[in-house]
Amino acid sequence: MNQQPIYKSINKLNYRTKVLNDINRERDRQFYLYGEQKDINFPLMFAILSEEIGEVAQAIQSQYEMDSVKETDSDNLYRELIQVAAVAVKMAERLVPDEVPDE
Ligand SMILES: [Mg+2]
Repeated sequence: MNQQPIYKSINKLNYRTKVLNDINRERDRQFYLYGEQKDINFPLMFAILSEEIGEVAQAIQSQYEMDSVKETDSDNLYRELIQVAAVAVKMAERLVPDEVPDE
């Protein structure tokens, strides 16, 4: 069993809460910018997700001062990871059943 002091567990929970809140805020930003986008199918959404993952790779290259052949403004690894997660959340939202099943 994990014997971490409780204050360390609370700090980790605070980090997770901040990340989840940032993902939710990014989803709101995407919705504000692009709307529902019901006309975008899953293959296109996956292409968007893949593009965002590419920006994570660019941000890693920037952060770790690796040579890159492409100019990019994707230099904030945290922001790029939040954007990847937000697009994945958007895809998952489409798979939530419309009706909540009876308990
Ligand atoms: Mg991005």
